[in-house]
Amino acid sequence: MTELVARLAALRQRIDTACRTAGRASGSVRLLAVSKAVGSAAIRAAGAAGQREFGENYVQEAMEKMSQLADAGLTWHFIGPIQSNKTRAIAENFAWAQSVDREKIARRLAEQRPPGRGPLQVCVQVNISGEASKSGCAPGEALALCTAIARLPTLQLRGLMAIPAPGDPGAARGAYRRLRELFEEIRAALAAPGFDTLSAGMTEDLDVAIAEGSTLVRVGTAIFGER
Ligand SMILES: *Cc1c(COP(=O)(O)O)cnc(C)c1O
Repeated sequence: MTELVARLAALRQRIDTACRTAGRASGSVRLLAVSKAVGSAAIRAAGAAGQREFGENYVQEAMEKMSQLADAGLTWHFIGPIQSNKTRAIAENFAWAQSVDREKIARRLAEQRPPGRGPLQVCVQVNISGEASKSGCAPGEALALCTAIARLPTLQLRGLMAIPAPGDPGAARGAYRRLRELFEEIRAALAAPGFDTLSAGMTEDLDVAIAEGSTLVRVGTAIFGER
């Protein structure tokens, strides 16, 4: 666990350096700790070291950890593919859903969000590298989907998320740049005040993502080690 705390500190340093190199304010990038396949004890240790936001890809796995960690005051983001039969559990248990990629899913999440929990924070996932097998809407569909989500009162549209095709960080740079351009186009078109989140960058390429405007990096391996 001391190793985990050291890795978290080194990662915060790395994010800080990437911000400074890009001429951005340190603290302009949030860290989401991706805890898929990680046990509750390690998540609790990261929480005690000041990490408050965690991302999970599988609903069932996440709900077990949430119940074990209910006293820890953590914020949970859903970042995996969303099937229709999982929307209720996501709407009821998560603060954020970053991987919304079609209107049907958005409508279900909106209908199933419990009154009194406050709006579910939503990012639209964009298939920025045009991969056939990947989740995410086509870039050309993102504005229409964002417009539809912005009209749903129990959802709060926050921004865009993407996972570029695997490859070297240099190849990811172009994808992250296109994502930021799309983000800026949509922000201008919607004039939605809460549209402030560009969820981009993982262990391999977060420096490049920050150079290209990411405001939230999703990091697993650099914190918890290889899965
Ligand atoms: C697993 C995962 C991450 C974290 O990846 P690392 O390479 O371990 O940092 C980020 N985003 C999503 C959507 C993931 O599934």
